[in-house]
Amino acid sequence: MTEEILFISDLHLDRNNPGITAHFLKFIKTRAADVRVLYILGDLFEVWSGDDSPVEEFNDIFNALQNLANTTNIYFMHGNRDFLVGQQLAQKAGFSIIQSPTVITLGSTQVALLHGDELCTDDQAYQAFRKEVREQKWQHQFLAKSLSERLAITAQLRAKSNLEMTGKSVDIMDVNQQAVKDTFDRLKVSIMIHGHTHRPAIHLLDQHRRRFVLGDWKPEPSYISWSDGELKLIDSRVKT
Ligand code: MN
Repeated sequence: MTEEILFISDLHLDRNNPGITAHFLKFIKTRAADVRVLYILGDLFEVWSGDDSPVEEFNDIFNALQNLANTTNIYFMHGNRDFLVGQQLAQKAGFSIIQSPTVITLGSTQVALLHGDELCTDDQAYQAFRKEVREQKWQHQFLAKSLSERLAITAQLRAKSNLEMTGKSVDIMDVNQQAVKDTFDRLKVSIMIHGHTHRPAIHLLDQHRRRFVLGDWKPEPSYISWSDGELKLIDSRVKT
């Protein structure tokens, strides 16, 4: 067991993309095997229609996570694709659900963990949708529908989201700089780690504050490691 902590997000596990599932299984069993904590910062799944949705294609993943949980603390944060992951799956896969944002301490540094969609405030249509679907009332009503109804609705939402994305400018779908600064100030942290935008990078807000952005998996892993007092972004697209 090492003191290392790993952060991942945006795998978008999908039965139509078994390559990423295979990479993640290997990652759990090798790279993450003896770390102290694994944080999954949202959009682990391309879509999640409720914990009772049939996802046999991920059973190996759930078993491997459950097994890893014997020695490693695993935390999961909802993304915009899998905000309906609930306690049933948490138990099955051996993780605890944490809220976005969550502030943790690494060494003596305060670090904020977020999915990142809440920072994309230029996309007002999306923020309105996010507010609606994150309400308990909406989620209760949705989860009370039959599975087939839910699968149909999430398929529709995905198609709508993909269609809208093609019409939105690249800038609108990135983080808003003022929202980033406000979040740093509000949470009183000097480091922020998030995913969502699929733009892996390390940004300097100022001399004292850094923002680490995780990448999606293509299908190779993109992850952040905290080890020996140092944070590193490991992503083949980012030169360090
Ligand atoms: Mn996302």
